[in-house]
Amino acid sequence: MTAPTSLVQERRLVTPIPGPKSVEALKRRAAATSAGLGIAIPVVIERAHDAILQDIDGNCIIDLGSGIGVTNVGNTNSRVVARVIEQVQALTHTCFTVAPYMGYIEVCEALNEITPGDHPKKSLLVNSGAEAVENAIKIARHYTKRPAVVVFEHAYHGRTNLTMALTAKNLPYKEGFGPFANEVYRMPLPYSYRWSGSLDTITQDSLDEITSKIEKEIGAHNVAAILIEPILGEGGFIVPPKGFMPGLADYAKENGIVFIADEVQSGFARTGDLFAVNEEGVVPDLMTLAKGIAGGLPLAAVTGRAEIMDSVHAGGLGGTYGGNPVACAAALGAIESIEQDRLVERAAHIGQILNESLNALAATYPVIGEVRGRGAMQAVELVYPGTKEPNVEAVNAVVKYCQSQGVLILTAGTYNNVIRFLPPLVITDALLLDALGVLELAFASLDS
Ligand SMILES: *Cc1c(COP(=O)(O)O)cnc(C)c1O
Repeated sequence: MTAPTSLVQERRLVTPIPGPKSVEALKRRAAATSAGLGIAIPVVIERAHDAILQDIDGNCIIDLGSGIGVTNVGNTNSRVVARVIEQVQALTHTCFTVAPYMGYIEVCEALNEITPGDHPKKSLLVNSGAEAVENAIKIARHYTKRPAVVVFEHAYHGRTNLTMALTAKNLPYKEGFGPFANEVYRMPLPYSYRWSGSLDTITQDSLDEITSKIEKEIGAHNVAAILIEPILGEGGFIVPPKGFMPGLADYAKENGIVFIADEVQSGFARTGDLFAVNEEGVVPDLMTLAKGIAGGLPLAAVTGRAEIMDSVHAGGLGGTYGGNPVACAAALGAIESIEQDRLVERAAHIGQILNESLNALAATYPVIGEVRGRGAMQAVELVYPGTKEPNVEAVNAVVKYCQSQGVLILTAGTYNNVIRFLPPLVITDALLLDALGVLELAFASLDS
């Protein structure tokens, strides 16, 4: 067995960001890779461990993004690495629908066990979050024999053709990529910070509006699925008001509609619960899972009610690589780490530190319009002080400042004015506080 990967958990800059080697490598990136690929931080990463990313110039950068909520168990988590090494030497591929192997079965057993609800459950493994969402919709349509899918404002569900249609935001996700799939209906989302009605009745008012629109514009009996992120990810970490998710789930149940929770970003301990729906005891019919599932290896899943998952004929689901043995080994390591390293509690602890620090910043810097999130999924929405006008300029300045000091943060939001924090759940308090100190300096450096 090789020595476990490690890297001192300290921010350390040895060159400006980007350093000379990254500058050269990024020229090759520009020459060799499609211009359609964005970039959040202009450095090239060589190795990583826990919450530190080391670039090719030797700079050690604090990771507050986890590769977009993927390395929840930490970069190169030792349980994941050990299982991957063992697996890659034993078996890398048969295609599960050609000849099965245990890893796929074990991951499905684990998902059926840890997801909410004690009814019989079954799972399907695929390669990406978008593929999980596509499959959940296929399964819901097949089960209900209905065509329509209900989605929400500010939603993000992926970049494939069907999932582009399900995603709300035009630029950059949809612009010029149509025509899109049909039978997709978008409903208002109770985004409390920007809600025009009364906040006292936001839950009931939004549910009334949505159910009325479904009945008038689609007909509930035509709806196969209601698809929602329990906390919206790319949309800007919008947390729907209390009672909204249970109300929506009840409406789906009363009308024979499959209720699908897209927990691709909010799942796997991120929010201080194993899954975000657990907060209000909501039990989805189907869940789409990816990102945090396998500690950085590509894997995704649909997990849900056995009678729904089993309604599809053999051969109707699948794919060449779905549930690859190495990715499955990584998932078993990640799930083990979440349990053994008590990462649910750790996420709640990180969330408390983040939330307190961000609220303290908001008290000093009126550019912060709102602090929101749950657990280690926190965000700030930046506005021009005294208004709710999105302040993209300030977001860009804060991000740039943090990057220059070796702190990687990500943005989000329909209006591009949200900074989101998704640290690996193994980040030390000291490292997190160091990063938050840099963030404070970034706000102090704004001239407004
Ligand atoms: C990232 C994301 C997806 C898409 O996942 P990919 O693996 O990038 O295809 C779908 N839903 C949500 C909520 C996401 O955050």
